[in-house]
This record gives sequence, structure tokens and C-alpha cells, in this order.
Amino acid sequence: MNLLVTGGCGFIGSNYIHYIFSTFNDITVINVDKLTYAGNLLNLQSIEKEYGGKRYFFEHEDIADAEAMRTIFEKYNIDAVVNFAAESHVDRSIDDPTPFITTNVMGTQVLLSAARDAKVERFVHISTDEVYGDLSLDDPAFTEQTPLHPSSPYSASKASADMLAYAFYRTYGYNVSITRCSNNYGPYQFPEKLIPLMFSLASSDKPLPVYGTGMNIRDWIHVSDHCKGVHLTLMKGEAGKAYNFGGNAERTNIDVVRTILRDLGKPEDLITFVKDRPGHDRRYAMNYSLAQKELGYEPEYTFERGIKETLDWYRNNTDWLNDVQSGAYLEFMKKWYGDK
Ligand code: NAD
Repeated sequence: MNLLVTGGCGFIGSNYIHYIFSTFNDITVINVDKLTYAGNLLNLQSIEKEYGGKRYFFEHEDIADAEAMRTIFEKYNIDAVVNFAAESHVDRSIDDPTPFITTNVMGTQVLLSAARDAKVERFVHISTDEVYGDLSLDDPAFTEQTPLHPSSPYSASKASADMLAYAFYRTYGYNVSITRCSNNYGPYQFPEKLIPLMFSLASSDKPLPVYGTGMNIRDWIHVSDHCKGVHLTLMKGEAGKAYNFGGNAERTNIDVVRTILRDLGKPEDLITFVKDRPGHDRRYAMNYSLAQKELGYEPEYTFERGIKETLDWYRNNTDWLNDVQSGAYLEFMKKWYGDK
């Protein structure tokens, strides 16, 4: 199979490409990535070295560029697309929604159109639990029937992309499925997201900014469980359907931060509560029984095992962490959190 993976240099996309090469020997991957601040070729250095030019091809392109996408579909005989490419950080979307609309909405439409024109047989679009909005403490978890009710410019752009995917199925009968998953964690996550951010700040004894009272609840899924879920969807998912994926691990943000501090042997007084994120969702929780029933999905990681392995990975990969924490990263962190 010739598989086009977009956003393959980001956190989940690169983990997915590693998963493909460690599991299958009959899949060729074409990775299309614009290399925004979140895209990092270092994430795939070992893949490039071993499979580059044979079963792995990198194309530095923008999914919102229709001509470039048409050329790529012509150049490679693509059988399927998995679309991870996105602007993915809520805080950045609050700061400036524009690139979120360009990539997440227009980019998804361009890619869907180009894939359909090229008669690509299968398309999986990667979405998020955030499209459902939020839950109160005693609401039941989100199912695929929960109405879309996004809160941030990021989640609104992802919900729009989901609607386009549904429309391509309903209007053209296109073979597209959607995956929606909870908060991912694991290796290669850009250190603006909670776990690597808190790890790196605590490691250098800097204050840890926690929004509001830290009582917001997220469900955490290890990225390797998510990657398996994505692949199951690609192989077995039904056209026109969305599948939820969760990790069975609801935790408050403050719990996660305390776990990191304990692991590092750092004091809790590093925690600094900061003004809450505008429109901050209270709680996300995923009912993933459809994926269990139809795809045979089951998360393998407990949060305790996953967080331990993840923190060990960051501890053992400080070069990677230092490399991404420069330039544009520093500018945004300063603008958003101030000069602490
Ligand atoms: P990320 O920000 O780490 O990576 C995004 C990648 O997409 C980067 O490599 C970037 O260079 C690339 N990209 C951005 N704009 C592009 C464009 N116009 N054309 C081509 N490439 C482009 O994101 P991530 O955390 O890996 O998330 C991947 C997908 O999973 C996203 O669609 C996101 O919405 C979704 N998701 C993420 C999480 C999470 O916890 N990280 C949870 C649910 C869903």
C-alpha cells in the first residue's frame, strides 16, 4: 500500500510513521508536511536513514496548496490518506485563529478534493474530542452521537473539517472516516503541550503555569494506542463514520502536574496558578465502545505506565528537547506566559 500521511513530522504523525515501519513491511509512506514550528524532521531521522528513497518519501508541502497536492497524487500512486496535518494548539488559536482556518478547514477541503479527484480509495481524517465541547463532572462521556459544540477557534476549525469529511461522504460517496481522540501523550510531543512543557520547566526549576485552579479534567491516551486506533480505522472503519478513541484515564491537570513533580523529585511550590484560559473546557471524557465493538480497539497503556515511560523518554532525549526549544518556540512562550 502507498500511504500518504500528512503532518508526519509532528507529534502524532511521526509516532504513527514509526508504528507503521515497526509493524508492517508492505507499506510505503509518503509524508507531506509544511514544517511549521511544530514539524520536526529529527522525529523521523531513523526512518529517513533506513527507508528513505525506498519505502519512505518526504514532501515539504502545504496541504492547502491544491496544485502541490495534485502533483503529489500524480507522482505517487496513492492508495490511502491519513490526514494529521493541522494547527493543533488551542492557545495559539486564541492568539490568532487565521492559520487554523487556512490549514485545518481549507487544507482539509483541498486534500479531500485532491484525493477524490485522484480516485484515492480511502481517507482517514484525524479529529479531536474537543469538537464536542465540554462536559460537567457528572455528564456521561462523549459518544459519536454527541452534537458538535466547539469552544475554541482550534476546536471550531476541527469541527468544520469533520463536517467537510461528512459532506464528502454524503455528497460524493467518498470513502472517508473520522477519528476523534482525547489528549495524547508520549515521545516527540512539542513542549508547548502540558506534559513536556511541565517536564521541561520543572527540570530547570522554573515556575509551572497552571490555568485557573488546575481542576480541568482531560482523558489521556498514550500516542501508541491512538496510532493503533488510527490504523484500525484505516483498515476496518466504515465510510461516513466517526470513531472515538480514549485512554480510560481521566485526570485533573493539577494531578498530572503533581505526578510530574513527584517523578522529578521537585517541590510543589513550583506550581503557579495563572489566569484561566478564555473559554476553557471543564472536562472531556470519551466513550469509545464503538471502536471496541467495530474495530477491536483496546488501549494497552495505563496512565501510570504511560506517564513513567514518557517522562523517561524526555529525560533520555534532552538533545531533542533543547533543539525544539529555541527560536519561534521561545517567542510564543514569552508572549503567552510572560517573561517568567
Ligand atoms: P502537531 O502540532 O505536533 O503536528 C502537526 C504537524 O502538521 C506538524 O508537523 C506541522 O508541520 C504539520 N502541518 C501544519 N500545517 C500544515 C499544512 N498546512 N500542510 C502540511 N503540514 C502541516 O500536532 P499533533 O499533536 O501531532 O496532532 C496531529 C493531529 O491530531 C491534529 O489533526 C490534531 O488536531 C489531532 N489531535 C491531537 C491531539 C493531541 O493531544 N495532540 C488530540 C486529538 C487530536
